[in-house]
Amino acid sequence: MEKDEGDSSLYCELCNKQYLRPQQFDNHINSYDHHHKQRLKELRQREFYRALACRRQRRLREERRRQRSFRRPRHLQNEERRGGGEEEEEGERRDGVL
Ligand SMILES: [Zn+2]
Repeated sequence: MEKDEGDSSLYCELCNKQYLRPQQFDNHINSYDHHHKQRLKELRQREFYRALACRRQRRLREERRRQRSFRRPRHLQNEERRGGGEEEEEGERRDGVL
């Protein structure tokens, strides 16, 4: 057995506090400080998950918007042009310069 200092049953993980006597630990668990921290932690967790859900929804919305904007398959249009279309474009460019 180790010393009393390291008694994990009298350690409050939430507040990062170690107690030597069960009575002290009991007092702490029932104290306003501990309850306040617990409530704060729960609140933070709830907000964290809410923010996470928000971000996920926003990403989904952006993805849908992007898919809508890609309704016209540009790569298909390019493939149609490839049949000699590129040469024509170059010729037009040269005409523009001259
Ligand atoms: Zn505590």
